[in-house]
Amino acid sequence: MTALEQNKKKLGSYLSRFEKAGVMNRIDGQDRDGSAGKFENISPVDKSVICKVARGDASDIDAAAQAAAKAFATWRDMPAVQRREILIKVAEQIEARAEEIALCECWDTGQTMRFMSKAALRGAENFRYFADQVVQARDGQHLKSPTLMNVTTRVPIGPVGVITPWNTPFMLSTWKIAPALAAGCTVVHKPAEASPLTARLLVEIAEEAGLPPGVLNTVNGFGDEAGKALTEHPAIKAIAFVGESRTGSIITKQGADTLKRMHLELGGKNPVIVFDDADLERALDAVIFMIYSINGERCTSSSRLLVQDTIRKEFEARLVERVNKIKVGHPLDPETEIGPLVTEEHYNKVTSYFDIADQDGATIAAGGIKIGNEGYFVRPTLFTDANNQMRIAREEIFGPVLTSIPFSTEEEALNIANDTPYGLTGYVWTNDLTRALRFTDRLEAGMIWVNSENVRHLPTPFGGVKASGIGRDGGDWSFEFYMEQKNIAFATGQHKITQLGT
Ligand code: NAD
Repeated sequence: MTALEQNKKKLGSYLSRFEKAGVMNRIDGQDRDGSAGKFENISPVDKSVICKVARGDASDIDAAAQAAAKAFATWRDMPAVQRREILIKVAEQIEARAEEIALCECWDTGQTMRFMSKAALRGAENFRYFADQVVQARDGQHLKSPTLMNVTTRVPIGPVGVITPWNTPFMLSTWKIAPALAAGCTVVHKPAEASPLTARLLVEIAEEAGLPPGVLNTVNGFGDEAGKALTEHPAIKAIAFVGESRTGSIITKQGADTLKRMHLELGGKNPVIVFDDADLERALDAVIFMIYSINGERCTSSSRLLVQDTIRKEFEARLVERVNKIKVGHPLDPETEIGPLVTEEHYNKVTSYFDIADQDGATIAAGGIKIGNEGYFVRPTLFTDANNQMRIAREEIFGPVLTSIPFSTEEEALNIANDTPYGLTGYVWTNDLTRALRFTDRLEAGMIWVNSENVRHLPTPFGGVKASGIGRDGGDWSFEFYMEQKNIAFATGQHKITQLGT
């Protein structure tokens, strides 16, 4: 049996429960149908119906928010070491079920086993990392004034809403949910409608690990129905959102009436800048990895290549050669490097840029073609002869599609890099140290890597500037979002109190 056949067989055994029972909502430790009925979950690999999914609406969100509110005091007041233990157990159970999570994720989203097996483990790492900080999360400072001893403490903000997208949905959900739980918040999670399977596995795992009922609730459904209700619910104190910039703007408006605290992780059109003094072998590997891994459905992907004109011809030629060799195929085949795009809608969006590139006057140097009719497969694509005013350089395509733009000077590279509404990541390839320092100082992005692809280190701040987001994840930044600072001032003596009416 080939590895692909083995994976298909294993997937069959993991999917049969979903085929029988569908994906239910999980509210207060109970399975619940969706009040708005059900919707179909389709696999992008062969367009087959995987299962039916509960379609939640405002009444389900209300039930989940009430459950989260009821469970809040129990979870908040549970001794920190006990909460820590539960979160460590969640991490252990994720590790134990990593294969199941990865296979389901691949079938649900079209992501490849090559990358998703690691994404499941990254999810466990997120729980472990934040579990280890549970005990200190509430620590504060003491700040002495002449008459008062001020003591600060951090307290969890309350029940929070987590709204996640369909790209690497398991890993991204843990990224938000782990720090929220570690802070002592309870959670209502609204996963993306296109990828509900692994959110269901996560809530099951968490409850099996000992999370009390109502601490994590999952309500499936559509953004403008369940998602909207979550952002508007008065019991929900904050929304951690990952998704498109346009949606981020909509949910900010939706949350205004209830003064929601918002953390927004949004889209990007990230530049990778390759100077002619760089290690071009490594730069080439990183350029390819950062746009064609994870099907290019990655917020941090470098979708604009800015290449110095002195090396442009050779660099692009080598790029074309490599891109044409990338293996597109069944996501469960360990050899596959790119799987199908997540949904028909997204496939239509990504492939529409093949015509747009033509109309813009760019050259399709590699790819630009759909593959077969069975699933949503495309060839990895490279556009050359582009400039930064073209739509292919300005709009987030969110697929395995790279736009190459030449520059001649450092100043020009900087102007092109910053000439975008977005500012999530930037990647700079140069062996000139002072240039790297100068350039990164002026590059408008929340995260920049020099001579490296994106390598995430959990204690560092993750997030974007401009239309790429508001707020930071990682380390203590996550706790700042999910917790409130509180200052308590104790009089240290009999200081003079101004007397009125004497
Ligand atoms: P999306 O904005 O369409 O949907 C994201 C989530 O929001 C889904 O769960 C959806 O149901 C929900 N939603 C939609 N409308 C809503 C509304 N009115 N109220 C409440 N919820 C609503 O995004 P997507 O297409 O699922 O994901 C891809 C996008 O996510 C890309 O733009 C990508 O760059 C971005 N992303 C950003 C990061 C980051 O860290 N910055 C990480 C991953 C993905």
